[in-house]
Amino acid sequence: MNLRDSPGEAAFRAQVRAWLADNLPAETGPEWSRKMFDAGFAGLTWPEEYGGRGAPYSHQAIALEEFASAGAPNHMNVIALGMAGPTIMAHGNEEQKQRYLSKMLSAEEIWCQGFSEPDAGSDLSAVRTRIEPRDDHFLVNGQKVWSSIAHHADFCILVGRSDPESQRHAGLTYVIVDMHAPGVEVSPLRQITGEAEFNEIFFTDVEVPRENLLGEIGGGWQVAMTTLLHERGTLGFALTGTLDAQVNKLIALTKERAADDPIIRDRVAQEWIELQALKLTNYRSLTTLIKTGIPGPEGSGSKLHWSEQNQRLTKLAMEILGGEDDGYWGYQQQRSRGNTIEAGTSEILRNIIAERVLGLPRSR
Ligand SMILES: Cc1cc2nc3c(=O)[nH]c(=O)nc-3n(C[C@H](O)[C@H](O)[C@H](O)COP(=O)(O)OP(=O)(O)OC[C@H]3O[C@@H](n4cnc5c(N)ncnc54)[C@H](O)[C@@H]3O)c2cc1C
Repeated sequence: MNLRDSPGEAAFRAQVRAWLADNLPAETGPEWSRKMFDAGFAGLTWPEEYGGRGAPYSHQAIALEEFASAGAPNHMNVIALGMAGPTIMAHGNEEQKQRYLSKMLSAEEIWCQGFSEPDAGSDLSAVRTRIEPRDDHFLVNGQKVWSSIAHHADFCILVGRSDPESQRHAGLTYVIVDMHAPGVEVSPLRQITGEAEFNEIFFTDVEVPRENLLGEIGGGWQVAMTTLLHERGTLGFALTGTLDAQVNKLIALTKERAADDPIIRDRVAQEWIELQALKLTNYRSLTTLIKTGIPGPEGSGSKLHWSEQNQRLTKLAMEILGGEDDGYWGYQQQRSRGNTIEAGTSEILRNIIAERVLGLPRSR
């Protein structure tokens, strides 16, 4: 196996690096996202008719690696690019694709995800939000929770129950909700870091036009599974890039504060080794993606490995600092707590790996 760039990939990598050197800002936002779009780095693999570049997945992987190692901020429309867009491409009709996709890439319209509820987190099939089919619209009533960037969002991908008699996976429906519609209320929740990155969303008699249905009425579970596969599958490369930068920062801190400590040196070396293993696993996931166009279950392994390693290494950095918060690692350690919960908890990901990668019997 040759993991080196082909001449075309090497040229693309050089192009990304040169662009980043000229354009890098400190923070994400609509302006940065628009700049990425204008330069063609948002939606690299998306079809050109929907604002993308129609580039191979290997270019997407290269761009993610280069953005992360340059410390470049993400495109602000993370849920649109990683989840809502690929779901609309897989299950949407032509009108929906034309209407929504390119405005996701240019960040003219921001998206959030309304899946979790107070009594339905890991078990999405327990959702109770009602999506009631009426003549020319759906009537939505209920509550979602932990919705990242909902306070900035124009649209929400929403899963709810269209058949009140149904149980679990049956009778769910998936719609696109206009976050500015009457009856939608967003209430921010403060995290351990002090930021309010996610929110509660309340829906009271919200009218959603029929044309905002994705997939079939009652077929929402299949559509939601596409969203979750993409959430975990495409995260891998982006997350590994940021982890690479974190490991380099940890090595720099060790050189400065604990260069002679043999135990710390061992632990830092172990983190570097774990990172190399994760990179190789991601290349395997990329091979599946190139062959099938659909992220494989390896994505769950990458997300699990990344989130647990990020917690461990930020904790190690705090130990090296003797608990003193230097303004960087303290925040990183607090934010990393959510990493093993968001996009599937570690326990759920272990179940998925056991069942779908290792072929062990179902846990329940
Ligand atoms: C930073 C952050 C951002 C988020 N953003 C969004 C978002 O944008 N949109 C959205 O819809 N949601 C979002 N979430 C919510 C996230 O998806 C849920 O928190 C997650 O699915 C877990 O659900 P829960 O919190 O209800 O915990 P629960 O499902 O109640 O789980 C509680 C505990 O029980 C364990 N557990 C549950 N079931 C099993 C099982 N079958 N086997 C073994 N252990 C089990 C879990 O691992 C966990 O430790 C976000 C969460 C975080 C932390």
